[in-house]
Amino acid sequence: MIRPRVMAGVRVTGPLHIGNYWGALSNFVKLQNEGQYTCFFGAMDWHGMTTAYKNSQEIAPWTREMIAEFIAWGLDPEKSTLFVQSQVPEHLELFMILANLTPMGWLERVTTWKDAEEEARQSDTHNLGRFAYPVLQTADIMIYRGEKVPVGRDQVAHLEISREIIRRFNHLYKAKMPEPVPLFTETPILPGLDGRKMSKSYNNFLLLTPEEKALKKSVNSMVTDPARALRENPGTPEVCSVHGYHKLYSSAEDIKWVEHGCRTAGIGCGDCKARLFNNIDAITKEPREKKKELLNNPKLLDSIISAGCAQARSEAKKTLEIVRSYMKF
Ligand code: SF4
Repeated sequence: MIRPRVMAGVRVTGPLHIGNYWGALSNFVKLQNEGQYTCFFGAMDWHGMTTAYKNSQEIAPWTREMIAEFIAWGLDPEKSTLFVQSQVPEHLELFMILANLTPMGWLERVTTWKDAEEEARQSDTHNLGRFAYPVLQTADIMIYRGEKVPVGRDQVAHLEISREIIRRFNHLYKAKMPEPVPLFTETPILPGLDGRKMSKSYNNFLLLTPEEKALKKSVNSMVTDPARALRENPGTPEVCSVHGYHKLYSSAEDIKWVEHGCRTAGIGCGDCKARLFNNIDAITKEPREKKKELLNNPKLLDSIISAGCAQARSEAKKTLEIVRSYMKF
């Protein structure tokens, strides 16, 4: 049976946080387990390099950690092709082909670039790699002849430019490369530890697989409802980030306990945080151990990564042959 191909990746920028899980990894696992698709999931280290090029020595350990976390949270190298972008050099060859046929104006109009330009100037990442990000993203999808890309509804514009670039390729070379379509996924609203929107730039995120000590520190730092300055003051759980995390990690019964206890001052914020800590700790325990086991066994992890990259390369090479034959190049 020929199954549609799904391609998706996560940019390598450091250890995964829960935004990566709810926005990407949890959906990857779901798609893999549904069994309807041939799945390619990548640790996108070239994309990470566009902003972390000054700390290039950190990219490789982050990448290994990402693959270990992919596996720890349910991706199975027997069911999905797990690869590291830079170990499949065909991504860059196809990037070069697509870069030539992508008008500059298309990239200048990308809203994420326009929005990020000022920050990019300030952080010394106003560079060609970052500007051309959508072209590399298109190559990442096209190199596996990806037909479906899991995205949140707010990210559909990111995929649209890839569709346009592939359409232009098809038009120019009378080709039939698949134009990827979005596979819509739902992402819950994730609160930052400080009550603001969760964002890497605010440094207010919860790691996906934290060690116990780091988890305790994160939970203790969560901002609570200021109305509960004293233990006997009732509060409003909806304005508290601890409540937001209970909704992600706790049982319905615990959520009821929090909401009732908070509104009636029946529980203190310390009790509420302690319960949250226990719940997150219980959920992350197994993946934490699995991740550790993989990182402590570099031979095993390396062999999983090599096998995944070899599988990915074999598909990527086939695509390049097809691409070059369309181009007569
Ligand atoms: Fe937040 Fe829980 Fe305190 Fe209510 S009891 S303010 S939900 S930490």
